[in-house]
Amino acid sequence: MRILLVEDDLSLAQALQGALGRHGLVVDIVHTLANAGSALKLSVHDLLVLDRGLPDGDGVGFIATARHLSPALPIILLTARGEVAERVDGLNGGADDYMVKPVAVDELLARIRAIARRPSTVALPCATLAALTFDFSAREAIVDGQPLLLPRRQMLILEALVYRQGRTVQRESLHEAVYGLEDEIQSNALDAHVSKLRRALKDADAGVEIMMIRGVGYLLKEAQ
Ligand code: CA
Repeated sequence: MRILLVEDDLSLAQALQGALGRHGLVVDIVHTLANAGSALKLSVHDLLVLDRGLPDGDGVGFIATARHLSPALPIILLTARGEVAERVDGLNGGADDYMVKPVAVDELLARIRAIARRPSTVALPCATLAALTFDFSAREAIVDGQPLLLPRRQMLILEALVYRQGRTVQRESLHEAVYGLEDEIQSNALDAHVSKLRRALKDADAGVEIMMIRGVGYLLKEAQ
């Protein structure tokens, strides 16, 4: 599960990233709403944890933007303000849940798990290209009705490419899809994963091909 955490308190953000990371959750941190918007455009996240008091605005005002960019994205608001009116304000604003600071990690984990179990209110569509279908809800690739089993990183690359099929996905965007915003990795590691993915798609007769756009990134299209 991949979480985007929008929090301008750096020490809190890093503490949550570390704590949730130990439970297998990948947490990308951004500190402003502007960067949150960019991150949602670049990468696919499963959950947004959104602070209210941010340098460039109130997190509540960002919910509509987040929903527009990623319709099925569950949102947990974080705030120092615990008054009933503030909580109602946040939930009316479209958040799925609401936590008052100081944040207890166990409670946040419990709420994340509860949201992850909840059926999505907005069904994510499946995308189909040639013989390949990608189910975004299950994060599963299917070729001619059969699941295509891929290692996790190849699946994340394929997800990002299918999501923007027919358009070039920038290398940096793929890096983030696979490794998170923070990790430094060698750039040829991405190419190695793409090569393996390309072979797996070919072996499965998916009828799609991954083109490299030199200096920009990769593009998924129907094979000629
Ligand atoms: Ca804050």
